[in-house]
Amino acid sequence: MAFVVLASVSCGAQEQAASSTTAVPVPPASDPASETQTPVAVTPEPEPTGPPPFSSQVSRVTRDRLPHSWQPGCPVSYRDLRLVTLSYWGFDGKPHTGELVVRKTVTDDIVTVFEKLYDWRWPIRQMKLVDAYKADDYDSIDADNTSAFNCRRATGSSNWSNHAYGEAIDINPRENPYVTASGSTAHQNAKKFTKRPTKGKGVINPGDKVVKAFARVGWEWGGYWSGTKDYQHFSKGGG
Ligand SMILES: [Zn+2]
Repeated sequence: MAFVVLASVSCGAQEQAASSTTAVPVPPASDPASETQTPVAVTPEPEPTGPPPFSSQVSRVTRDRLPHSWQPGCPVSYRDLRLVTLSYWGFDGKPHTGELVVRKTVTDDIVTVFEKLYDWRWPIRQMKLVDAYKADDYDSIDADNTSAFNCRRATGSSNWSNHAYGEAIDINPRENPYVTASGSTAHQNAKKFTKRPTKGKGVINPGDKVVKAFARVGWEWGGYWSGTKDYQHFSKGGG
């Protein structure tokens, strides 16, 4: 019916005719296509704008981006680190852009996994460089911040952490705490998340697709350690 109407009226009536037959937005009157008097099939417009597709960018990281997390004497030069800027799905149900620093040899691993997480709408609280917390691991964890590189010793050890090599990442550390063999966590706000399996936004449980996605690129989960469990922690080759 719309075609008949369109063929018999001036362009001024087109908007009314189109809007009475479809819910599709009509091009503005200045659009040349709307000036025609020739009957035109009404083609549906694309769906309303959805979330943007996953995007990522890998770039060199300058020394001044890592004022606290890197110092001379660290086991990896900052020149061998990369800044990965990527999309993540927030706890607020919206897309966000986060930043991670990792070793240049593992950027593909990270992008591969985080593209899956984004496509799954798997929620992440926030993702800033640990330098936003002056490289204080406790403060970053308390803020539930997902981060990777940090030139520091392993918890309770004099050895470098895998984070010091840019080959480890901690994800939603409040929901996925470091839990001692006796079942305690240093973070008050994480106490309800010390047992697995458990439910909750951004929680990682044994066998989860998040764990499998990391395993496919050769990263092991700290939730599978015996004794102490580090449910937030994934690292290249384990450890
Ligand atoms: Zn970790």
